[in-house]
Amino acid sequence: MIEPPPLRNDCFALPAGVEWTPVDQALDLLRARLSAVTGTETVALEAALGRVLAEDAVALRSNPPLPNSAVDGYGFAGGAEEGAHALPLQAGRAAAGLAFAGRLVPGHALRILTGAALPEGVETVILEEDVTLGEGQIAFRGPLKPGANTRKAGEDIRAGDVALRAGRVLTPADLALAAAVGLSMLPVRARLRVAVLSTGDELVEPGAPAAPGQIFDANRPMLLAIARRMGFEAIDMGRVPDDRAALRARLDAAAERADAILTSGGASAGDEDHVSALLNEAGAMQEWRIAIKPGRPLALGLWRGRPVFGLPGNPVAAMVCTLVFARPALGLLAGMDWQAPQGFDLPAGFEKRKKPGRREYLRARVRDGVAEVFASEGSGRISGLSWAEGLVELEDGAREIRRGDPVRFIPYASFGL
Ligand code: AMP
Ligand code: MG
Repeated sequence: MIEPPPLRNDCFALPAGVEWTPVDQALDLLRARLSAVTGTETVALEAALGRVLAEDAVALRSNPPLPNSAVDGYGFAGGAEEGAHALPLQAGRAAAGLAFAGRLVPGHALRILTGAALPEGVETVILEEDVTLGEGQIAFRGPLKPGANTRKAGEDIRAGDVALRAGRVLTPADLALAAAVGLSMLPVRARLRVAVLSTGDELVEPGAPAAPGQIFDANRPMLLAIARRMGFEAIDMGRVPDDRAALRARLDAAAERADAILTSGGASAGDEDHVSALLNEAGAMQEWRIAIKPGRPLALGLWRGRPVFGLPGNPVAAMVCTLVFARPALGLLAGMDWQAPQGFDLPAGFEKRKKPGRREYLRARVRDGVAEVFASEGSGRISGLSWAEGLVELEDGAREIRRGDPVRFIPYASFGL
C-alpha cells in the first residue's frame, strides 16, 4: 500500500491581516490545500457501500452488452406504417439469457421476451398487449418506428468508458452500475481514522454522577456519530480535563491511532484554552476567526503530522463548524471529492433581520414546504439541534427576511448525516 505525502505545516494558514475570514474563503483554502492521506485497498462490491472510490472504475463490458428487447412481445424486421398489419409467426422464441438459435425468417414475426438479445433480423418489437394472436400469425396496428421497444448495445454505457470517478462515495446505485459493467472488485480508500476527544474540567460522562456545576459531555457522542455517518472509523479518545500535560498525552495517543483529530472545547485564546495553546507550542497552529454564526474561533493545526480540528465547546457551534468546515476537510483527507452540501430555496416561515458581516446558520426544518426555524437562536440550546432537520443558511450580507421570502435550506442529509 503506497502512502500519500504528508500535509504541509501551513495547510491551514488563512490570509494575513483579515479580521474575520469569510466562510467561502476559508472553504476555498481547505479545498486547495488538503488531499487524501489514506492508502488504498481492493474490496468486493458487497463491501464497497459508503467507501471512497480510489481510482476511476472503467467498464469492462457495455451495458447492455447486446441489443435486446425492452418488452415482452413480437419481433420483426423494419418498422410498421400506419394501419393494420399481419405477420406469420415463426416457431420458437427468444428469451433473456438464451441465445436464439437461428435467425428471423424474412417477413415473419418471432415471440420475444424482455431482455432477450435481438435475434439476427429482428429490429423492432411490438408489445404483446398491442397484438392479437391466432392461426399462426399476429395482427396489430401501426405505426411503429424501426427500433421501437428495443435497447441498443452500449446505449447506457460502453466498455472502456469511465463508469465511476475516483472520489465518489459509493452508493447502492453505484454498486448496481459497477456490477452491470462487469466489475466485482473496486479499489477504495482505507477508511479515514478520526479520533474524537472532549476537553473541559466541567465535563462528566453521560450517566455518571454529576456535581452541581458539572455537565455531561454532549459533544463526543455527536462528533463520533458524525464521523461514523461519514463512513470513517471513529475512535473515541474520551474526555480530558483542562490540564496541558494530560491533553498533550491524549493528543499524542490520538495521533498514534488516527489520521485526523477532532477536539471540542478549549479552542479560543483564554487561560483554559489548552488545545490552542498546545497547537501553538507545536508551531503549527492557526487560529481560525471565521465570519460565521454560531461559531467561535477554531484552532486548526497539525499534531505530530495529524490535522487537528479544534472545535468550539459549545455544542451548537461545534456541530455547525463540523458540518461546514470539518466535514468537507475530512472528506478530502479521506480521498472524497469536495463535499459541497446541496441546499434549496424555500419560503421562510419566519421573520428576521440579519446584520451584515457573518454568514448565519439557523436550526431549521421543513413543514408543508415552508422552512421553520427553532424558536431560540441561543447557542447552548442542544434541543434545537435535535429539533432541526437541517440548517437555513443566510448569506454574509445584511438581510431583512419576511415570511414567504426565499431562504436556502440545507437538510442534514446533504451534510451526510
Ligand atoms: P469552551 O469552548 O471550552 O470555552 O466551552 C464553551 C462552552 O461549551 C462551555 O459552556 C462549555 O461548558 C461547553 N462545552 C464544552 N465542551 C462541551 C461538551 N463536550 N459537551 C457539552 N458542552 C460543552
Ligand atoms: Mg472549556
